[in-house]
Amino acid sequence: MSFFYFAVCHVCKNEGPTLKKCGKCKLVHYCNQEHQRQDWRTHKDICRVITETNTLLEFSGEGPVEFNKFKIITAVLWHFELGRDLSVSEHEMWMFPKVCAVCYKTAVNIVCTTCWSVAYCNNKHRMLHEKQHKEFCQKLKLCLEIHQNMFNEEPEWERMSFDFSSSVLKLPDNICDVVKIIKFKSNIDYWRKAMNLILMTEFFCSAVNVVYALEMCKFVEKRLGKKNKIVIHTTTMEICENMSWGVLMEFLAHWIYNLKGVKIYVISPNLNEEHRLSFTLNCDACRKKRFNSSVVFLKGQYHEFTGTIPRPDLVVMFNAAFPDVGTVEWSETVPKFLAYKNVPILLTSYTMEELKKSISKFPSPWIKSYLKPQQNLFGSLRPVRNSEEGFDPVVYRNTFVSIIAKSKT
Ligand SMILES: [Zn+2]
Ligand SMILES: [Zn+2]
Ligand SMILES: [Zn+2]
Ligand SMILES: [Zn+2]
Ligand SMILES: [Zn+2]
Repeated sequence: MSFFYFAVCHVCKNEGPTLKKCGKCKLVHYCNQEHQRQDWRTHKDICRVITETNTLLEFSGEGPVEFNKFKIITAVLWHFELGRDLSVSEHEMWMFPKVCAVCYKTAVNIVCTTCWSVAYCNNKHRMLHEKQHKEFCQKLKLCLEIHQNMFNEEPEWERMSFDFSSSVLKLPDNICDVVKIIKFKSNIDYWRKAMNLILMTEFFCSAVNVVYALEMCKFVEKRLGKKNKIVIHTTTMEICENMSWGVLMEFLAHWIYNLKGVKIYVISPNLNEEHRLSFTLNCDACRKKRFNSSVVFLKGQYHEFTGTIPRPDLVVMFNAAFPDVGTVEWSETVPKFLAYKNVPILLTSYTMEELKKSISKFPSPWIKSYLKPQQNLFGSLRPVRNSEEGFDPVVYRNTFVSIIAKSKT
């Protein structure tokens, strides 16, 4: 998986103070000419667009709000000029540009040599930012190290196969303890080497949160499900990342002994196409119980599909900030969430503020709470860079959690 840091060679991903910048776009850096030459075929399109539009050099806005707007405009412009979607690293070039962390000017000459993630135009601005940056410097450093490690040796997720000891009857108290009870069935050495604890928490996070919600609402007790089939609706795309669908299926199949089938409906207006994925789990236990699972991806708003798809046992919204734009659609969608009495709705978020805002969209007299808004003990421990200026530069997925349901009809 490729990524972009302005202070890291774009080819070998090593950081350093002596990197040479691309003479044309001045945004991408290399440790030597050989690496620049290697990258040219991939880089030339975006380099032309950056050079022609040259927008970053023209930013004259005032504060973080303007700079955020400016970033979004830049992305649209690049996308338009390029005539295709930006790759992940191209996307990160405008999200994490080489600008002064204080005034957003591009003429910078000081870079933090601990995290290689922030730059300053002069020493005065560095001092001004020092206290604020100190809180995040080590976390940003960890972000970069994880990227670098995964770049050098990306784990092959699809080779993963795991189970749990039968003596464990309930989800442990936090994500680290959950990770410790996972027993890899094959390639054990490979997984020990490839995955450190932080990556594990990120990787299993979605699955653990689904099981947590099922236990909280007593759908699952002592690893037995109330039913042997389960239907999950989800309206955000977060769950798709890192190919975690297979892991979610394997987690559910092995955690819930009597579970024979899982069907997940992913509904999002951002999908490219509607499709279906089926998962066959090859272990003896799953074959014996004829475990059957699939994910159906539907393009559109949630309220357009309810009624045409089976009733859910759980509704999931990972890192769900109900966007402020499109509130008209949410006013149609929210009642559909509440169409099913007692069906738990799992909501997670990056911040408490976002979570409370999401919950406030539901009419309170109708809502009961399985879990009050709180810090999530099963949140991911992997720091992720946040490109939005004026907020924490590092965030963690599923940091806050709440589980609600409709209590009255
Ligand atoms: Zn290099
Ligand atoms: Zn360039
Ligand atoms: Zn500055
Ligand atoms: Zn730093
Ligand atoms: Zn199995």
